[in-house]
Amino acid sequence: MAATSPEPLEIPAGLAESVLDRARRAGCSHAELRIERIRSQAVALRDGELETAADDTETGIGLRVVHNGSIGFAATVAHDATAAADLVDQAIELAGVAARATGRRVELAEESGHGEIEWTSPHETDPVSVPLSDKVALLADWSARVLDAPGIDHVSAGVLAVTEDKFYADLAGTVARQRRVRVHPELEAVALGDGGDFETMHTLAPPAGRGWEYLRGDGWDWETELARLPGLLRDKLASPSVASGRYDLVIAPTNLWLTIHESIGHATELDRALGYEAAYAGTSFATFDKLGTLRYGSEHLNVTGDRTATHGLATVAIDDEGVEGQSFDLIRGGTLVGYQLDRAIASTTGLGRSNGCAYADSPLHIPIQRMANVSLAAGPDDGPTTEALIGRVSRGIFIEGNKSWSIDMQRYNFQFTGQRFFAIENGQLAGQLRDVAYQATTTEFWGSLAEVGGQSTYLLGGAFNCGKGQPGQVASVSHGCPAVIVSDVRILNAKEESGR
Ligand SMILES: [Zn+2]
Repeated sequence: MAATSPEPLEIPAGLAESVLDRARRAGCSHAELRIERIRSQAVALRDGELETAADDTETGIGLRVVHNGSIGFAATVAHDATAAADLVDQAIELAGVAARATGRRVELAEESGHGEIEWTSPHETDPVSVPLSDKVALLADWSARVLDAPGIDHVSAGVLAVTEDKFYADLAGTVARQRRVRVHPELEAVALGDGGDFETMHTLAPPAGRGWEYLRGDGWDWETELARLPGLLRDKLASPSVASGRYDLVIAPTNLWLTIHESIGHATELDRALGYEAAYAGTSFATFDKLGTLRYGSEHLNVTGDRTATHGLATVAIDDEGVEGQSFDLIRGGTLVGYQLDRAIASTTGLGRSNGCAYADSPLHIPIQRMANVSLAAGPDDGPTTEALIGRVSRGIFIEGNKSWSIDMQRYNFQFTGQRFFAIENGQLAGQLRDVAYQATTTEFWGSLAEVGGQSTYLLGGAFNCGKGQPGQVASVSHGCPAVIVSDVRILNAKEESGR
């Protein structure tokens, strides 16, 4: 395989220094310059034939300043010193406009300079640089293995890959060069039954902050997953529809990460909790006055936000406001103890230092507060395995893989489905079920968290494209969690509910 690493992002000599110097002389109390190149690629095959191959490279320079207590931002797709210098005047002018519009003085929470930083997310092979023919060949091989199995009618396979190069420099003296890579491979199979009946099943491998080696088995056992998929899908198509009612659930991390994302990740973004941000995902029931008192869940619920997890999709050394990547508590022993912050909101609320959740998805976009890797802590190393958790349930359902979901605008009433559901009878798996959806309120669900699995069950799941803001921005985020038992949860029959 002739994969090459992309050229380093070239920064014209003296450009950052001269822009920041100009901003300082113009009276900016803060200025941050980002020069970026984001290369992304989508490859998709249908029934083994190439259907989509799209490449995109976005480059540009963005400058955000704080001038007279107001924020201004300007950006250009040009890549030269003159265009960059002009950004200073444009950003200061916009800060003046913003000051008149909001009448509110903005302060950024203190962050000292971190000097020169160079950081690359750990990977072997740059995922965008791998030749397209190699990518198609690998996905075609995966497709053939599943499509050739009896009872499988269609297969789609694809991969999204991003390599993000970001240069960051600010007035406090931080100069960071970061390269982050991420991939999301997925294969979905379809099996047709009688009378228009059908079922689908996709692979459970999460997107990850890894290189192309991930698709070759480093970090995920594709051989086993692809070998098992056809049989599991045939069994699912032949399995009975669930009887609605209340069940104890054993939930695998491949499903639970999304429930964490929607009901904890978004709900503990402080801009939503304060009502400033409502785009895409609404505000939050976990309002700021409840910090330190809200019973979010049982004593087993320990959740951190962190930008340091190895292979995490939201992992960085330095965020887009010059704040060091950190790990911090959001929920401890079931109580809400923290929020995800950027520097402006940390300052407004008197919470002290930002915990480093600022991100811009493009050099042309202003950084906003985005989700850290929000993760549920596992039990100890010798804590229960998934089999042990299943063994403790007399009548329940074991759930794997994420599918559709809905949640209200306060992140409170929700419903989630999944890829695979197995009946549990007297501590044993007893065949698959179809049409399962679980429904609860956020605090009722997490309050019923009865047991968390040990470290052996822990997995970093995640979302490749989570949307927020106006204009909309996307971000990738991981969510680690163990397998868990959640007791006495309301199960709906999704087919009856939809009247299908
Ligand atoms: Zn989201």
